Amino acid sequence: MIEYRNLRVALLGAGSVGAQVAALLLEHRDELAARVGAGLELVGVAVRDVDAPRTTEIPRELLTTDAHSLILGADIVVELMGGIDPAREYLKLALTSGADVVTANKALLATHGPELFAIAEQVGAQLYYEAAVGGAIPIIRPLRDSLAGDRVDRILGIVNGTTNYILDRMDREGDTLEGALAVATELGYAEADPTADIEGYDAAQKAAILASLAFHTTVPVDAVHREGITAVTRDQVLAAQRNGFVVKLLAVCERLTDPDTGAEGVSARVHPALVPTSHPLAAVHGANNAVFVEAHAAGSLMFYGAGAGGLQTASAVMGDLVSAARRHVVGGPGVAESTHANVPILPISSVVTRYQITLQVFDRPGVLAQIATMFSDHGVSVEAVSQSVRTAEPGVQAGESSGATLVIGTHRATEASLAATVAALADSPVVERVESVLRVEGL
Ligand code: NAP
Repeated sequence: MIEYRNLRVALLGAGSVGAQVAALLLEHRDELAARVGAGLELVGVAVRDVDAPRTTEIPRELLTTDAHSLILGADIVVELMGGIDPAREYLKLALTSGADVVTANKALLATHGPELFAIAEQVGAQLYYEAAVGGAIPIIRPLRDSLAGDRVDRILGIVNGTTNYILDRMDREGDTLEGALAVATELGYAEADPTADIEGYDAAQKAAILASLAFHTTVPVDAVHREGITAVTRDQVLAAQRNGFVVKLLAVCERLTDPDTGAEGVSARVHPALVPTSHPLAAVHGANNAVFVEAHAAGSLMFYGAGAGGLQTASAVMGDLVSAARRHVVGGPGVAESTHANVPILPISSVVTRYQITLQVFDRPGVLAQIATMFSDHGVSVEAVSQSVRTAEPGVQAGESSGATLVIGTHRATEASLAATVAALADSPVVERVESVLRVEGL
């Protein structure tokens, strides 16, 4: 029997995700009330244009352009507008007026999360954001709750569906980056302006959120090293395939040791990386997302599924909404965002990983030995070298090659040592050009 009063839910935004949330709230009203122990009453939906077409049917009387009044009358505010302004002001207003907040806004959390969490803590309100990373995939709650008693060492995430679709298409169809992007745009996976996805900004925001949660430390998005996929070529992807790897845009959040002080630090980075085909992340195809977590006691865990989509993302939003509503019914302080560890954030130069370097070299005696010396001079140990002789260019005498392609795999080395090695290689008279340098993760 339901005795608690109805909870007033204000929805900000009725686009791809918001319209689905509105429909689920209206369609499953009775079942949700039974689960929560109180009715969830959708009291209004703030939009920019009340007459704009919607993907689900929202009663006209619920639509409003007055978000401010809507927020002031709500127990729970669900923000699905996106962007920084006015979402930031609206959420501050919601929290200070005592409402709990559910949001999917990774851009806002990655840039103004600490401010919003501080207000929430001060007023005793809750801020839920499961949908901000990985769409439908439960990852925020597992990190915050299920793994709260464990120690997360590393997270490897495929957290951007658009770039995964593009790289997967290059791998499986042999398409170029431009060709795969055009298909992604046609299918609605990429926006008209794909910069946020292909330059890694979206993934960097998610990396900041994941690293902050996993390491109990505020990791601002500006501290996330970011490289997009625009420099990835079809040749690189196909060469990776021949060597037993796939190229993935990874968000890597990990604990590190500061090479100067020996103290513990953390780092977050986003870049294309070679992942061995035997790793579970290599099997994440299309626009799907996955987050691979390595924890001290739990070992390896992988969370996989749809990283976007209106209905899929609405599932995560609804889960948060039910949690927020239950807290109203049952009471209790809820979970404060934990940033107590305050571990130093280390720069990319401190990262230690493996690399694969592809070089075009001139065909001269002693080339291999000279190159090996450049690696060892900078403290980078070579694990494997494969060489293929390039076909002679027209005009080169029969039997004489114009050079060779060297693919060099290294053992673990710091980024700083690797960067110094690559600079030396680029300057060397035996190296025609450094074709690519890719980090190898998941080995
Ligand atoms: P969307 O389709 O662009 O919808 C945005 C909605 O917000 C629209 O209904 C728009 O109103 C409304 N809106 C925008 N500015 C407003 C303002 N100033 N005042 C009142 N209403 C305003 O966005 P979405 O794709 O649903 O994404 C919503 C949030 O979910 C974003 O933070 C996004 O990052 C996150 N997210 C989305 C997905 C996904 O698959 N789409 C996945 C994960 C997370 P009008 O309709 O009148 O223009």
